[in-house]
Amino acid sequence: MNLPFFLRDQYNEIKEIYPGLYPPINISDFWVISGLLDFTAKYQGISIKDKYQIEILIPITNPLHIPFAREIGGRIPMDFHHSTEGLCLGEPGRVIQKFNEEPTLLGFINNCLIPYLYNFSYKEKFGYLIFGELSHGTTGLLEYYQELFGIKDRKRILQLLGLCINSHLNGQIRCPCGSKKKLRKCHGILLNGLISGVPREIIKAEYDLINNGNKSHKFSPR
Ligand SMILES: [Zn+2]
Ligand SMILES: [Zn+2]
Repeated sequence: MNLPFFLRDQYNEIKEIYPGLYPPINISDFWVISGLLDFTAKYQGISIKDKYQIEILIPITNPLHIPFAREIGGRIPMDFHHSTEGLCLGEPGRVIQKFNEEPTLLGFINNCLIPYLYNFSYKEKFGYLIFGELSHGTTGLLEYYQELFGIKDRKRILQLLGLCINSHLNGQIRCPCGSKKKLRKCHGILLNGLISGVPREIIKAEYDLINNGNKSHKFSPR
């Protein structure tokens, strides 16, 4: 099978920066890039240099899909943020939003994968996670939106998400967060960011999950 042209281009771009990664090979339903990811990353003034044996999997039937990633050096235990497909890189909507800001392999590595690895390295070094840790399932989703919107109330969060699902945002209505301000002067900007970065059917699915309470739900990167 021939490697799609855009994947070859994207691989050429990543190997300049991460020369430990081998060219994509075809393994069953995926294009697989594996090798040593050697990186330096900095967050809040703390720089960490580390390396991990990783595998990046791109679905052959849907190569524009956000890739999956696995750590194959046996360093990250399975009970640390994993999903059925590999590493759990975060709340799915947020991962998609980050990926869409730079939807290439390099963007995926820099914006989605390395923050996860940085977080794990940080935990090994200092004993706790710097980015905080979201619970899996509905609780994690709710926590994510509580943090994003800066409010605790589940009902108000659902109202804000509801605005993202239905038609166009009307900036003149009162923001459902309780601030008494107009939407456009309050959560409107955040909601616009969500709408442009996350497919509506995902926001809808997340809305339903939060709305339906604590049914267990396993996250997987998409
Ligand atoms: Zn997780
Ligand atoms: Zn508001």
